[in-house]
Amino acid sequence: MADCIFCKIANKEIPADLIYEDENVVAFNDLNPQAPVHFLVIPKKHYASLNDIDSEEAFGNIFSAVPKIAEKLGIKEYRTVINTGESAGQTVFHIHVHVMAGRNFNWPAG
Ligand code: 5GP
Ligand code: ZN
Repeated sequence: MADCIFCKIANKEIPADLIYEDENVVAFNDLNPQAPVHFLVIPKKHYASLNDIDSEEAFGNIFSAVPKIAEKLGIKEYRTVINTGESAGQTVFHIHVHVMAGRNFNWPAG
């Protein structure tokens, strides 16, 4: 999608610190990390938010990548977050799963 920063990262039109890629998803380190490890997993296909995902396959592609990448990085414990909509804190409208690790996390999230 034109003017979507995460589509541009997925298409390699703008640089990012990529840590994983397969046919359907890419993962890259967050520009403004909130934990010692903080990366984002995104589908290559544009979906504005979780509400727009239209197939179980797309869900599967995104979520099955998370433990694979964690294992690759040697991480066993991590926080995953998906912000959906502005009031939930979503600022980039291309769905992304935050994966954070390397510190203790509070619950409930703020
Ligand atoms: P949201 O607030 O939508 O849940 O999360 C968006 C995340 O994307 C933020 O954590 C922000 O730091 C990250 N981010 C925004 N723009 C870029 C970018 O151009 N490159 C990278 N690597 N991360 C970005
Ligand atoms: Zn996009």
